[in-house]
Amino acid sequence: MSGRQYPWVWADVPWSDAQELTRGTHDGLPLMSWNTADRNLLATKGQLRRMGLRPGGQDPVAVLYFFSRKGMRKMFANLYLIALAKPVRPMTPGKWGALAKANLARRLCPECGHDRFYVIHPTLGKCFTCVEAESARTATDAAPIAA
Ligand SMILES: [Zn+2]
Repeated sequence: MSGRQYPWVWADVPWSDAQELTRGTHDGLPLMSWNTADRNLLATKGQLRRMGLRPGGQDPVAVLYFFSRKGMRKMFANLYLIALAKPVRPMTPGKWGALAKANLARRLCPECGHDRFYVIHPTLGKCFTCVEAESARTATDAAPIAA
């Protein structure tokens, strides 16, 4: 398996004032091979993750190519500036989803099943509309029927 060879190219890179040796470009970004990417400055998403970081909205500054032993083929991974990375949110999207669901459950009236957009008061156990409807019904029931 010969594979395409990437020529060494000196190029301006966003993470250094000096030119760095790259392997050309990929999708308009400097292409780095496994041993040329500066591990103190650049990291893939997975590497950031292991550092407790995330790209934090920044665009990738380079592309890393490496040979996957598992897939027996060349792989590409975006590289991000570690300096611009942000700590991983303590709340994961999954946790936010669970919280939203819990809040929705507290807003749902068990009586009529409507989302009332306020938390159903535990002592009432139902929304104000249901409470009012019930008290109106009770009042009618209690009222003596005039014959
Ligand atoms: Zn209700």
